[in-house]
Amino acid sequence: MRLQKSRPALLPAVDDLVALARPEEPMLCLRPEVLADTARAFRRAFPGETLYAVKCNPDAAVLRALWEGGVRHFDCASIGEVRQVRGLFPAAEIHFMHPIKARSAIREAYAEHGVRDFVLDSAEEFSKILAETGNAADLGIFVRLGLPKGSARYDLSGKFGATPEDAAALLAAARPHAVRLGLSFHVGSQCMEPESYTRALLAAGEVVRAAGVAVEIVDVGGGFPVAYPDMAPPALSAFMAAIARGYAQARLPAGTKLWAEPGRALVAGGASLIVQVQARRGDALFINDGIYGTLSDAGVPGFRFPVRPLRASAAPLVDYSFFGPTCDSADAMRGPFPLPADMAEGDWIEIGQLGAYGACLGSGFNGFAAPRIEAVRDRPLLETPGLTTRRIRAA
Ligand SMILES: *Cc1c(COP(=O)(O)O)cnc(C)c1O
Repeated sequence: MRLQKSRPALLPAVDDLVALARPEEPMLCLRPEVLADTARAFRRAFPGETLYAVKCNPDAAVLRALWEGGVRHFDCASIGEVRQVRGLFPAAEIHFMHPIKARSAIREAYAEHGVRDFVLDSAEEFSKILAETGNAADLGIFVRLGLPKGSARYDLSGKFGATPEDAAALLAAARPHAVRLGLSFHVGSQCMEPESYTRALLAAGEVVRAAGVAVEIVDVGGGFPVAYPDMAPPALSAFMAAIARGYAQARLPAGTKLWAEPGRALVAGGASLIVQVQARRGDALFINDGIYGTLSDAGVPGFRFPVRPLRASAAPLVDYSFFGPTCDSADAMRGPFPLPADMAEGDWIEIGQLGAYGACLGSGFNGFAAPRIEAVRDRPLLETPGLTTRRIRAA
């Protein structure tokens, strides 16, 4: 009998799982149905091809759920990610979108994993790509355009990207070698302002005109935001409208296709973390995961994640901070995390929106291993308008 593994009715709820397992080590609860639905929602909304940015969460179960949701294109940034995706999906389209790659990575990706699309932001990287693919005649070349600092929670403007002048020159130089040519950018992660995409597309239009060559693709990158307790992003439709406006105003060559590389938007709602309180001191809770584990974004970046106590309590809410389990005093998360005033040692807490940049950033420092992963049927603790939406299910 072919039972769909991800059928929600067949998966446990978080509460039942915790009641049964009483986990004293952190546990990551993955929501395969939510991941697949979110991928479907993004793909429906975006007027082009959707590439999943694998670095955001490379877990095999996550990648399988996104595949279930129709994702066939993967933005990889290392040979490890390329191998992981190719190992799972022989038919996947893999795009190597890191502007600075090891020569061996270019060679292996091209020769052994069928990768044809490579990004660059310098003439030196272009030479490396040509040399390591033996001047291949079937390359897709993408020029990464740098953008000024915008309104993203995670600014990515400092590290990669060519100036408009250099990007135009690189496009012109790459044209004769590329069966498909593209221009890409990244507005920064958790970008709260739809107009950032409009502005970036206008800049891309200028670069393409200055290059004086045709391009087949403009890749708007990632950055699409999700909801956190202190961040209510505009609906996904507002970002799509801003992209449509930018595309129209940029006067790109007729037929130029759009690609996007969402990471966080596809997977943040797809997992939450179950932690146990090991001690309480005032309004600080010592929990069994922290900034060297699944919660690095709750440390210095100061992300607030939604929390839920896993037992009933009528006590009023109090703003708590968390300490992680390692001996480092930097292993602290200021929150605030509102939980009942009677929280005590032994209580379990669900921490949501941790499908993105969570478990994959864990380090194993101080002997604390990565959490075990269980699939659950629950909705995310926070819904993001247009991405995760409550569905009415038949009983
Ligand atoms: C990290 C990254 C992404 C994904 O970014 P999100 O903000 O998670 O959507 C996409 N493209 C590139 C080039 C990246 O570096």
